Amino acid sequence: MKYRINRKTGDRISEIGIGSSYMFEAGKQEAIKALRRAYEGGINYFDLAAGHGDSFPIYGEALHEVRDKIFYQIHFGADYTKGDYGWSLDLDTIKGSVKWMLEQLKTDYIDYGFIHCQDEISDWETFKKNGIYDYILELKEKGVVKHIGLSSHTPKVINRILDEADVDMLMFSINPGYDYGEGEYAHGEVEEREAIYRRCEKEGIGISVMKPFSGGQLLDDKTSPFGKALTVYQCLKYILDKPGVLVALPGAKSVKEVEELLKYYDKSEEELDYAIISSFEPIRNSGRCVYCNHCKPCPMGIDIGLVNKYYDLAISGDEMAVEHYKTLKLNAADCIQCGHCDSRCPFSVHQSERMQEIKEYMEKR
Ligand code: SF4
Ligand code: SF4
Repeated sequence: MKYRINRKTGDRISEIGIGSSYMFEAGKQEAIKALRRAYEGGINYFDLAAGHGDSFPIYGEALHEVRDKIFYQIHFGADYTKGDYGWSLDLDTIKGSVKWMLEQLKTDYIDYGFIHCQDEISDWETFKKNGIYDYILELKEKGVVKHIGLSSHTPKVINRILDEADVDMLMFSINPGYDYGEGEYAHGEVEEREAIYRRCEKEGIGISVMKPFSGGQLLDDKTSPFGKALTVYQCLKYILDKPGVLVALPGAKSVKEVEELLKYYDKSEEELDYAIISSFEPIRNSGRCVYCNHCKPCPMGIDIGLVNKYYDLAISGDEMAVEHYKTLKLNAADCIQCGHCDSRCPFSVHQSERMQEIKEYMEKR
């Protein structure tokens, strides 16, 4: 397992976490074994926007002994007191649900208390008006909530809430389908979505990623919006290459499914390469660098994806990205304009020209 640090909280978070939407489906005993296998495999981050309340006692039993070594995302607005998941903006309902969740989880604190599922500006206005945000702040003051999160699928709502609330973790739906306008939660234009990633990176807000496989649709030729399947591992690599992302949260309900996820780190560069998406409409010939490094090897040894990521962050105002760029052993100034990357890039990026542009920009910084 590899870990990333949430710059706002200092938490060391596994790149792969577990989402709980169908955790309960394989039965209690298998789910408990699955969660323990996940923990043994180094996974320390778990999202509790569960599909059903039955998931909570499973977590409580599986992980209460290692509670101080793991992180829970708990959602203010998800109500499980009737069993099935319900969405609520009623303060008393939410207070009751949070109390119930903590009891089931056998814990008395919440690592990331989430402003849950805000997809309309009106959701946020009601959330505040009904005193739910103040309730999270009150619990934070008391030490029950350690940090604040926000879950949303919608860039314009995310920007508004990040402007107004002190958010430490954003839960956002990211996959190649949504990023290019394909799928149920493909909210926002490509540029708006990329701007969210860069904003989070710049402000040190971590991103935890829900729906990494678009509800499984991307994994099957028949359901993929592109008519062509990607693998679990290509989707995970795509997500983890995005600025700001700390952790992907695939669902898993059995030991076998957890072990499949953990194989991510055994995969070769070729198996993780997601450049095939460049052959899909509407991504074809986008001319945008997605930091995939498919253009490697550069004869000079430049990490082309990383140089581009720092550049995109820098031009959006991220000063830290400029500093990171300057610590690279090799950067755009080392480019000899050989053109190898131009011929290898499946996204039609004129990378040698871009290297010149990056070099000139960074020389002035
Ligand atoms: S230039 Fe093309 S191949 Fe290279 S990292 Fe960017 S998108 Fe990937
Ligand atoms: S053009 Fe520059 S960045 Fe691209 S492969 Fe050649 S030396 Fe590397």
